[in-house]
Amino acid sequence: MDYPGNLFVVAAPSGAGKSSLVKALLELDSRVQPSVSHTTRPPRGQEKHGREYYFVSTQEFDTMVLADAFVEWAHVHGQRYGTSKKAIEERIAQGSDVILEIDFQGALQIKRIFANAVLVFILPPSWEELRSRLERRGEDAPEVIELRLANAAKEMAQVGEFDFVIINELFERALFDLKAIVHAQRLKVSAQRRARADTFKALNII
Ligand code: 5GP
Repeated sequence: MDYPGNLFVVAAPSGAGKSSLVKALLELDSRVQPSVSHTTRPPRGQEKHGREYYFVSTQEFDTMVLADAFVEWAHVHGQRYGTSKKAIEERIAQGSDVILEIDFQGALQIKRIFANAVLVFILPPSWEELRSRLERRGEDAPEVIELRLANAAKEMAQVGEFDFVIINELFERALFDLKAIVHAQRLKVSAQRRARADTFKALNII
């Protein structure tokens, strides 16, 4: 499938710092728009319907699955999460860059449908650091942390399927790396041809 906008997919085990990195990128680069997923999990803290997620019931989620409304969906930590076609197709067709913050199963599904999607995996610098970030976050009970660490091992084994990997040791460095990936993608000949069609035409480049 060809489209004028770029599609970036960021995946990582929980605690690797994915959300903070994507949030910082969105604040710095207004050309990148977030894709808002649907989920069956309840909102946490200050989360708002339509901003972090569309929070839906399992019945609503089922109806969307049956109506073929999702580009991808997956079970993650006992809940369901999905990217609706609406969340991305219109925007990339109009030339916006869209970023998806989803789990690795979803990322691999996206790559099958959008072959040009850029898959980025965020790794923690070490097991010790991942564990201490999860503990510092204070959101999870010890047994949940163990479960997240066990899941992390399975997720990280998929890194070879991705296009880029960022090791999130120093936040600023990792953000620089993410910006560099977005920038490099925009400089690809195919992307420049679309974004700067007038310049290509003026230079008589077919
Ligand atoms: P959380 O509940 O902590 O916000 O997210 C749990 C996990 O679900 C994270 O790894 C997040 O990236 C993933 N996730 C969020 N939205 C989607 C989605 O639309 N599709 C898939 N496959 N995973 C998602």
